[in-house]
Amino acid sequence: MTFKDLSLIEPILKAVSDQNYSQPTPIQEKAIPLVLAEKDVLACAQTGTGKTAAFAIPIIQNTQARVLPNAKPRVTSLILTPTRELAIQIGENITAYSKYTQVRHTVIFGGVKQQKQVEKLRRGVDILVATPGRLLDLIDQGFIKLGGIQSFVLDEADRMLDMGFINDIKRVIRLLPTKRQSLFFSATLPPNIVELSKQISSE
Ligand code: AMP
Repeated sequence: MTFKDLSLIEPILKAVSDQNYSQPTPIQEKAIPLVLAEKDVLACAQTGTGKTAAFAIPIIQNTQARVLPNAKPRVTSLILTPTRELAIQIGENITAYSKYTQVRHTVIFGGVKQQKQVEKLRRGVDILVATPGRLLDLIDQGFIKLGGIQSFVLDEADRMLDMGFINDIKRVIRLLPTKRQSLFFSATLPPNIVELSKQISSE
């Protein structure tokens, strides 16, 4: 199978080709059509399998289809990930895959001053990549509203729980519209993770 077979738009095919990816990985083959069709996905995938592109590429494509020229974007996709390093990596991948589109994104994480992150948010983004603590902090200060979210990604869910983020995740989920797409990625699927994934997709 090739990326062309996945019904991707030309600007994304060109960006993927710039990355020298010759063909989709197994998780990409399975997840991309489902995400494009706005279905919920629960995937067991380790880092290194190409899981970031498996959710980022179709989210960029769905977002590009909604872009209104000259309008300030509103956050429609939220990708929640446990660490600053992962958030930065996801942001870099989105930069690469979206470079020929009009989709805008930013990355927010703790441990640094918030000013630059707030300025970027003020200019408007379509896709927000965030770690839980800084996300809730900026929501509490009124800089981020989640009422327009159409796609929610929980990345590395098992690590999130290991790091004690369960209450933060539950708070974020309560702020999301009930009608939305939920994508759930975890390296392992123990019972507590399956339970959480059910709660998330049935919200
Ligand atoms: P991830 O599992 O998302 O952490 O991705 C691991 C690495 O695989 C990253 O460096 C990606 O750039 C790379 N990658 C993602 N998709 C593909 C692909 N289809 N072909 C080759 N490399 C890929």
